[in-house]
This record gives sequence, C-alpha cells and structure tokens, in this order.
Amino acid sequence: MSIANNISNLKKETEPIGVALLAVSKTKPATDLQEAYDAGQRLFGENTVQELVEKQEQLPKDIEWHLIGHLQTNKVKYIAPFISMIQSVDSLKLLQEINKHAAKNNRIIDCLLQIYIADEETKYGLGFDEAIELLRSEEYTTLKNIRIRGLMGIATNTDSEKQIKEEYYELKTFFDGVKVSFFRKEVSFDILSMGMSSDYKVAIAQGSNMIRLGSTIFGSRPKKTA
Ligand SMILES: *Cc1c(COP(=O)(O)O)cnc(C)c1O
Repeated sequence: MSIANNISNLKKETEPIGVALLAVSKTKPATDLQEAYDAGQRLFGENTVQELVEKQEQLPKDIEWHLIGHLQTNKVKYIAPFISMIQSVDSLKLLQEINKHAAKNNRIIDCLLQIYIADEETKYGLGFDEAIELLRSEEYTTLKNIRIRGLMGIATNTDSEKQIKEEYYELKTFFDGVKVSFFRKEVSFDILSMGMSSDYKVAIAQGSNMIRLGSTIFGSRPKKTA
C-alpha cells in the first residue's frame, strides 16, 4: 500500500468518529511527508527537535507540527516560533520555559501533559499525582502563553491487549476527572492523545480522540540498536 492509500483509508476510519490522525513521520524523508501531505494530511508529529526543525523548513507552511518526544528546556527556543502543539510536557519547569518562549514569539502554545501510564521504566511522563500537583500550583496559574489542551499517554509495549486496555481506560478516567476539576469552563481542554500503530483500535475504544500513527502510514522504521 502507498502512503497516500494508507492516509485515505485511515481518514475514512477516523474522520466519521471524530478521531484526529497525527502522522508520525520520525526517521522518514521529507518526500514521504510530502506524499502524505498531497493526500490531504496536515497533522505531523516528530519526536526530536532537530528533525522537526529540518522538516518544517522543507515542507509546506500550513502543516501543523506536533512534538511527541521528550523536550529539553534548552531546545524550546528552536520550535517556539512555529510549533502547533507540544504533546510531551512532563514537568512544570518545561511548561514555564515553553511559556517564556511563547511570550517572546507573541504566541500561545498548545500543550498536552504527558501522563505516565506504562509499566516500563523508560517512558517519560507525569504520574497522576504529579499532574494534579502541577495543575494546582500557583506557578501554573501565572502562565499566560501556554494552553493545556488535554493529555497524552503511551501504553506499555506488550502483546497483552488486556493490559493496554486497562492503561488506556485509566488515562481516560483520569482525563475526565481532570476536566471536571480543573477545566470545567474551558472547552479547549478536549484532546486525549492515545494510540499508536499497534494499539490504536484499543485506544479509540477506550475514548481516544487523537491517534499517533507512524508505521501504519509510512511503513516500519529501522529498529533502534541499544
Ligand atoms: C514513534 C511514536 C509513535 C508512532 O509509533 P508507531 O508504532 O510507528 O505508530 C507514537 N507516539 C509516540 C510518542 C512515538 O514516539
């Protein structure tokens, strides 16, 4: 299947049910992204600042770029002028830094809090309690150039569908609780980003409204060597 075909099939699957499709294009050449773009795709996700900046320079300017990988505070400045959404906010310190650079660029930058739901040591993210603590903090309420649009989570890399389902269920339940407690009046808190190629159907069934697909669209990536 071509990239264009994959996009068109996935759009048919997700658009009628209100699930946004983020095309995760990490490691893929700009020509692959252009093919997806020509098939109508506008949301693209990258996991490193360097690739994001390089591709943003090469590709059409109406693409909405999302950062989905861990962001170091000293790199925020490179993406602040153009980034549409930072899905990987995992500390108050990072949020403060994003706010600072958003202000410098006269922008409000949309963010998701990345919540740690996996049963793995390596994944970044805030615990449920840490996310609550952040939202309750006085520092957070002073940040005027960021807007938290919702939550993002990565499930455990496992064959157990039961486990993945439980992790996504927990995140959806937490999302609903956070919405009621902190964003009751903000309709813009409306994004629950969960689901990758291997588990997006489970994620949608558990209430995801944004899926992040790489290999399903662009084909598999070379395996990382440790
Ligand atoms: C790479 C990546 C994806 C997409 O992974 P696929 O399995 O190729 O769909 C989704 N989310 C995050 C955070 C990623 O790093």
